[in-house]
Formats: sequence, C-alpha cells, structure tokens
Amino acid sequence: MKILISGIKPTGHIHLGNYLGAVKNWVDLQNKYSCSFFIADLHSLTMKISAQELKQQTFDLVVDLLAMGIDPKKSIFFRQSDVWGHAELSWIFNCLIPVAELERMTQFKDESARQPDNVNAGLLTYPALQAADILLYRAQYVPVGHDQIQHLELSRVIARKFNQRYQKFFPEVQPVLSDSPRLMSLNNPQKKMSKSLGEASYIAIRDKREIIQAKIKKAVTDEQGVKNLLELYSYFGDKKKHSQMTKDFSTGQLMNVKLKEELSLAIIQFLEPIQKKIKELEKNPSRVNKILKDGAKKAQKIADKNLKEVRKMIGVD
Ligand code: AMP
Repeated sequence: MKILISGIKPTGHIHLGNYLGAVKNWVDLQNKYSCSFFIADLHSLTMKISAQELKQQTFDLVVDLLAMGIDPKKSIFFRQSDVWGHAELSWIFNCLIPVAELERMTQFKDESARQPDNVNAGLLTYPALQAADILLYRAQYVPVGHDQIQHLELSRVIARKFNQRYQKFFPEVQPVLSDSPRLMSLNNPQKKMSKSLGEASYIAIRDKREIIQAKIKKAVTDEQGVKNLLELYSYFGDKKKHSQMTKDFSTGQLMNVKLKEELSLAIIQFLEPIQKKIKELEKNPSRVNKILKDGAKKAQKIADKNLKEVRKMIGVD
C-alpha cells in the first residue's frame, strides 16, 4: 500500500481551520493509504515554549485528533520525539542542503519576522527535520496545503541529493493535494483563521457553546466577512438554508443576526460529539498515552530499519 505521512505541531488547541484544512482530510486518507500521523513536538522547540506547556499541548492535541477521527487501528499515530531517528536523519540532511536554499524559505522569513528576538538556527534548518520526518519512513506521499508546497519541494531536493551522493534510497515524495478550504479569520476577514491573530479569530474545537456564540456574534460583517460566514455555514449547516441565505445575501435581504444564529447552532451541533469524545479521552490519560506508545513502537521499527541502511551508506555503521 502507498505510504503517506503527515505531522502537526502542538501549538494549542485545534481550530476549525485546522480541522477543515488538514485533519478532516487525514481522517479520509486513512482509508486509502498506509498512513502515519505524528505530533511534531520537536518542531515546537523553535518557539519559546516551557516544558510543561509542550507536554500539555501535546497531550491535548493527541486527544483532539483521536476525537476527530484519527484511528490508531488504521494509522500509525505517534509523537515525533518518541522515535529515535528524526533528529539524526535531519543532521545528515543538514549537511546536504545549501544554506542559501534554507534562507529562501518563506516560512523562515515569516517566522523570523514574527519572533525577531528568537531567530534560532532551528527556524532556518526546520526543513531538514521536516524532510527527515517524511524520509525516515521512506514515505512517498504527503498531504499538503498550498502553504506547504515549498517545503515538500525541498524534501524532494534533499532526497535527490542524498541519492546522488550515496545510493538511490529515498523516494521523491509526491504531494497529495486536497481541495480543503482555507478558512478565514472571524475578526479579520482578509486573513486566514489563525491562532496568531488571537482568540477572536478562530473557533477552537473545544470552545463551549457560549464562547462560540460570542465569537460569531462579534465576527466582522463587512462584505467579505459575511461571505466568509456563509462559506463557513456551507461546511457545517443545512444545504437548503445555505442556498436560501446565499440568495438573500445577493439581493441584500440577508439578516446578519440570522446568519450568525444559524451558524452558531450548526457549529455547536457539529462539535457536540467531538467534545463528548474529548471528555471521555481526558478521563483516561493512561489509555491515551498507551495509544501513543504503541504507535511509537510501530514507527520505531520502520525507522530503525531505514536508518540502519542509511548509516551503512554514509559510512557511520
Ligand atoms: P498550523 O497550526 O497553522 O501549523 O496549521 C496546521 C494545519 O492546519 C496545516 O496543515 C494548515 O495548512 C492547516 N490550517 C491552518 N489554518 C488554516 C485555515 N485557516 N484554513 C485551512 N487550513 C488551515
């Protein structure tokens, strides 16, 4: 079966943008590929985050993903730092990538601008770790959003460089493009829904009914804002009501209050079963941790086999 891998950073609670833009797609891909999904906790170290925060956010993310449908019976689900090999392979890759290629990455420029007091080397060499995350498992497929195509391209370049310098070993990774939507921010309709724009920008999977209602009530309703809310409704709401409200919008008869009420209701209903599962999982942390450990064992087995080969090829076996 085709091997596919993807990871997500534990940077606070998942929001509806993450769900529709990434996680929903993962849940579907589980039936079509041999999937591995991991919590990219090593990647979080490029930000200033305390040990306690990182641990908690990792646990919360695992719970969120399980509640949304990541199924450890179908996929290998693990924490990056539990598997030896990601960091080692990324060092090997660091020695293959020209610095100029890393400096060109938009993510490096964006992140450096976002945290000018912490432009650490990890921010620059992050793509080497990302390539290692994929190639450690010799994965051929990676689901990508449009914002990640540049990273994937660099992973392909790294695989090619390794294969040329040593032996043909790594596959050239193919993107699995999805038509996942890009959700826009509630408080800033021109920008994408994002944690970095503050809590009013997004609806978190764990937001309570009153919070959801309050955030949607405050959502900006200029023309673009209303379009965004209608789009959001199309994912969670009733089809007939959606087409009626779209019609009303085009004739200038749509009541924003009504749209907001319907949207709140639809999202609350959608999140209800997910939040119930989150509560159940949180009551049983040892079960959650066991799922992670079992996943890590499976991932480690594959990583060990591949890294053993790599060590031989580069002369450090
Ligand atoms: P982040 O937490 O920003 O690293 O995002 C994790 C995943 O969610 C990535 O695959 C992003 O492409 C996706 N994502 C983040 N924000 C949005 C959004 N507003 N709309 C759609 N997808 C998003």
